[in-house]
Amino acid sequence: MPAEVRQYVADTNGGRYELHRPIGRGGQGAVYTCKGNPRIAIKLNHAAGDGQSEVLRQRMAMVKRMDLDGLPISRPVAMLARPHVGYVMELITDMEPISRLLSPPSGVASVKEWYRKGGGLRRRLRVLHRLARVLSSVHGRGLVYGDPSPGNVLVSQELDSDDVYLIDSDNLRYSSRPEKGILFTPGYGAPELVLGHTGMNTLTDSHAFAVIAFQVLTVCHPLLGDAVLDGEPAMEEMAFQGRLPWIDHPSDTHNRCRHGIPRGMVLSRVLATTFEQAFNAGLNSPADRPGMTSWAEALQTASRATLVCPSCGWSFYFTGAQCPDPDCARPRPRHAIATVGIWDRSGSGQGELCMGPNRRPLIVGSSVGSETHPLSLTREQLGLSDAKPEVALVVRLEGARIAASCTAADCVMTVATIPGSPIRELTEASQAFRLTSPGSSLYVHCGGIDTRHRVVRISVKEGAES
Ligand SMILES: [Zn+2]
Repeated sequence: MPAEVRQYVADTNGGRYELHRPIGRGGQGAVYTCKGNPRIAIKLNHAAGDGQSEVLRQRMAMVKRMDLDGLPISRPVAMLARPHVGYVMELITDMEPISRLLSPPSGVASVKEWYRKGGGLRRRLRVLHRLARVLSSVHGRGLVYGDPSPGNVLVSQELDSDDVYLIDSDNLRYSSRPEKGILFTPGYGAPELVLGHTGMNTLTDSHAFAVIAFQVLTVCHPLLGDAVLDGEPAMEEMAFQGRLPWIDHPSDTHNRCRHGIPRGMVLSRVLATTFEQAFNAGLNSPADRPGMTSWAEALQTASRATLVCPSCGWSFYFTGAQCPDPDCARPRPRHAIATVGIWDRSGSGQGELCMGPNRRPLIVGSSVGSETHPLSLTREQLGLSDAKPEVALVVRLEGARIAASCTAADCVMTVATIPGSPIRELTEASQAFRLTSPGSSLYVHCGGIDTRHRVVRISVKEGAES
């Protein structure tokens, strides 16, 4: 919509709105912000008609009855009055479409710089993890989101935040009541939707999510290789129908892509495997696709394994020996690795770490941090009662010492330099500890030492330059 053309719509309650900027375009229409009211957005459908208006009214009534409590999903507020077809929805401020993170604006001088300014790899992984969690919760409530696309997933404008918010909720469906009708945003519809073989379901949601995730991380579309981008429009159709190999297919090179961030810079081994599963075996076999819970786990593990380069700010996996930006290549900095295990007091003595089937300590999660970016472990990681994603333990590297603080008021944390021997209680004020010898670890027990609880083992690894 050209900026100089003012367009107004009204709702059936008499409210009048001036359309401002399009946030995104989906399968059926576009969503606009509303001039003078940042808490409202307008969904305007392409085609008008009484039949379509009635269908939309019924859908909105259904969405209003759904259990969306606690989920960051916009609710419909009111229907638009004729001649328009659409509705008014809630919006929260300071959010922008995730599309801003998946392709640089035209004319941008350096894709690398644009990627870094968007929060780099670490923030992209965190945002995608949050989105995967939301979609997983939607599926867990027996619902299907319907049309995940870069235009209806909003992310916080603040780089420190990984909040997401879904709009365009009229596509929500009950998974127990599959509906016919083809609806998807071009580029994000699973092949079986594009071909009209099925309606929307949790596995079509998973496909759309996987495409968005791949684009956000690598800045290229998983199905659009050079052969498609340089070919006839029919090639694109074939790609979206699942008739071409995906761009990183391990053996079929017909659809390779010369664009995008090198995968080794942004995909962990687990993420690379999960994408391969989604776009190779899972492309035309929905049951083989990773579900949203698998995505959430893979993305969370990946985000917690990233370090931020102290020289250039690019974030990368701590398994790499140096910053992967060839223009920087600074050796990996000194960093702390926190592994979370389970402490069992059921035996004799001080208790011990629970062992896994391979006779090694059972690890329930891990995180890394550096001198510039402290480690933050959440209540969820530490197994605290409400399992919220709030930070409960902060660990900083301070020269030769490790400083730690407990930010969970309801949890007693004690610190030991030898497993099982508590020496000091952690408080909200940061306390510094010195490791007893090189290669030793600090143990933070989360919860009463007399009960089964989680324990965090913190080890320090010298930088690759040392
Ligand atoms: Zn660097």
